[in-house]
Amino acid sequence: MRPVLALALSSLCTLTSCASRQPEPQRAKHILRSGQQTRNLDHFGDDLDHAVEIAEGIFQARAVGNAHMIVTSAGNVIVDTGLPKEAKRQKQLLQKANDGPVKYVVITHGHMDHVGGTKQWNGDGVEVIAHENFVDTQRYLKDLAPFFLRRNRVFYPHSVPDVDRMLTRLAVEMLYPTFEPTRLIGETFRFELGGTRFEVIPTPSAEGEDSISVWLPDRKILFTGDAFGPLFPMFPNLYTIRGEKFRFALPYIQTLDRMIALEPEMIVPSHFEPIRGAERIRKDLQRMRDATAYVHDATIAGMNDGKDVHTLMREIQLPKHLRLSEGHSKVPWTVRGIWEGYAGWFHFRSTTELYGVPASAVAPDLVDLAGGAGAIATRADRHVAAGRPLEALHLTDIALAAAPENKAALQVRLRALTVLLERSGDENHSEVMWLRHQMTTTGEALDR
Ligand SMILES: [Zn+2]
Repeated sequence: MRPVLALALSSLCTLTSCASRQPEPQRAKHILRSGQQTRNLDHFGDDLDHAVEIAEGIFQARAVGNAHMIVTSAGNVIVDTGLPKEAKRQKQLLQKANDGPVKYVVITHGHMDHVGGTKQWNGDGVEVIAHENFVDTQRYLKDLAPFFLRRNRVFYPHSVPDVDRMLTRLAVEMLYPTFEPTRLIGETFRFELGGTRFEVIPTPSAEGEDSISVWLPDRKILFTGDAFGPLFPMFPNLYTIRGEKFRFALPYIQTLDRMIALEPEMIVPSHFEPIRGAERIRKDLQRMRDATAYVHDATIAGMNDGKDVHTLMREIQLPKHLRLSEGHSKVPWTVRGIWEGYAGWFHFRSTTELYGVPASAVAPDLVDLAGGAGAIATRADRHVAAGRPLEALHLTDIALAAAPENKAALQVRLRALTVLLERSGDENHSEVMWLRHQMTTTGEALDR
């Protein structure tokens, strides 16, 4: 998963400032076989005082981001190192299981919940392996740290500190510890340790272009980091609304094809528990692959048919046999991500897209013509009553751009957001957190 501290995940339920105004959404019915949701990571492994032996000689120190250790007679291999704040405990748990020397540390990608403890394991003679795109990923995430931290805080309010209240440089150094891998790979890297064969495989993926997986060919065990995202199975998070570079569908499909060909009997993601059973794994990988390909191909076809992006966001849905959890991503966001990943942000809709004057610049004119922000709020409220919260929000955006403190417009906005939250089914973490954040700020504006 992605993001730097973003990956420190937190509970949805305690945004107290909006708790009294919002109903608890109903959970979507089709979500997940495992029953896991992204928010559950927040306390994953808290109750354990030991690393779990998930297979003979393979230990998992559970936390927001799991850390793993494969024990061999010639030394041990670490796969991922957890969040900075949890890494020390995870190292202790793993060393309690086996205190042999660590020879290799494999970092599955550059998100902080996977790399945060690397410095603790690093030392003379330790080979630290990462993807050749890792260095660039680490750099851009750090360069944009204040930007991403502000956004991540919307989605993970209990885990991400308020960067604007900290000395920024200090905060960034603390939250984004960086290191230099000793080996960067662009192709599969094979090594053997104590009679165990390891293959470190590039698997550019749903969580970025620097993803690698670790394959134990003799045991049919595949460590996948975040190659799928935090849930399994799930629709891939190819576009994340908190930001980060585009993730492309075709490399992800190739990654899944590669994994299917390995025929793993056990998958060990760096979030939640391992998945066991060759047949179940094969079916789920195939479904994720086919669902991604379906949305990709439907988007391409729609673009070629001359359909605009909003039409495709509404039209493209997974057929029943390919449905997957959208707990961490949504099909319409992916449609737009595919569109803009290929064609960029200029949609040929309006000349004004090419210039720096937004529609809100004429909001005062529209409000004036309508007879005031209150009149627009009244019309917006009719949309809410008729079950059209998005049309209502378009109108309240206009009213509030011209009159940010207009109570009627704020109240309608709150009602429209409430409808959207109910409709969300409590399925998608980012959507729910965004809507709650918007409800909170709207409520605060109403209280002023
Ligand atoms: Zn992650």
